[in-house]
Amino acid sequence: MSRVYNFSAGPAVLPEEVLKEAADEMLDYKGCGMSVMEMSHRSKVYDEIIKDAEADLRKLLNIPDNYKVLFIQGGASLVFASVPMNLMKNKKAGYILTGQWAKKAFAEAKIYGEAVELASSADKTFSYIPDCSDLPITDDMDYVYICENNTIYGTKFWKLPDTKGKILVSDMSSCFLSEPVDVTKYGMIYAGVQKNVGPAGVQIVIIREDLIRDDVLPCTPTMMKFKTHADNDSLYNTPPCYGIYICGKVFKWLLKNGGLSAMKELNEKKAKILYDFLDESKLFKGTVRKEDRSLMNVPFVTGNEELDAKFVKEATAAGFVNLKGHRSVGGMRASIYNAMPVEGVEKLVEFMKKFEAENA
Ligand SMILES: *Cc1c(COP(=O)(O)O)cnc(C)c1O
Repeated sequence: MSRVYNFSAGPAVLPEEVLKEAADEMLDYKGCGMSVMEMSHRSKVYDEIIKDAEADLRKLLNIPDNYKVLFIQGGASLVFASVPMNLMKNKKAGYILTGQWAKKAFAEAKIYGEAVELASSADKTFSYIPDCSDLPITDDMDYVYICENNTIYGTKFWKLPDTKGKILVSDMSSCFLSEPVDVTKYGMIYAGVQKNVGPAGVQIVIIREDLIRDDVLPCTPTMMKFKTHADNDSLYNTPPCYGIYICGKVFKWLLKNGGLSAMKELNEKKAKILYDFLDESKLFKGTVRKEDRSLMNVPFVTGNEELDAKFVKEATAAGFVNLKGHRSVGGMRASIYNAMPVEGVEKLVEFMKKFEAENA
């Protein structure tokens, strides 16, 4: 067996320990003679798996009792629609456009109500986070929406926008559980887990109870009402059972390794190794304004497309895979989520130094 260093933006690297445990339990989960994939989601065994997962997530993020945790399916892209359907009481909301995912959520919201652009960093290819200290937020807006960590462009909101009293909705897909978060600052947080937590197919929604309503937009499918899932403890229908089970294991792995403060420290350490090198390199350059840099997704370029392609090819051959940048920005991107070991980043930098020397 030979594992590569996987820098994919998502689906992405998972802790090896978790994968091994899952492999051990594949044929016979704790003596019940079947895999978690094969058991009823109404069984006592599964009930314990999903309840444990929620309890551990609550512990990790210190989620207050007046917030519900929902495990749902459909991709983060489906939540782009669930948000306006469930939260647009006045049919108006403000969006901050910091990249492709925010733009997609914005376009989706426009189908259901009036979505207003509050700020944007499109003028410089989303390489920074716009000033959000005095946004044109009006009284009739139901919420302010952000994509907190921009997976494609490698920017992160290090300071939350001033929402002027409106609730904040955050797409945390690519920074979820990478650091401690004060949940009380948000009306709703959501994340597709395939970036930092588990297998694709699970969305986690953390939402303040008073925002879960029956009087959602009339077109809202039952399956897209947060109330449906909240009333049924995420077991209204068959949930993504196996995915939730793996997420639960990752939560336990995080707790065992010191929780989110320890994770943040580790993530800062890894990112620093890479950014320090990018700052001193004569060949490679980071593409993001320094104060807005993400700890999770690190885009960089050589400034020469052919050299970029050569780098990606040689890196792949050396066991550093999925370093090609998103098709919309080109260059390279190293995603260094929780499960990427420090050693993986150190070795990548060593490889980059060697490449630089050879291609000077
Ligand atoms: C990947 C990603 C999405 C889209 O996720 P899907 O589950 O593929 O729909 C949305 N937002 C962010 C921030 C992402 O990184």
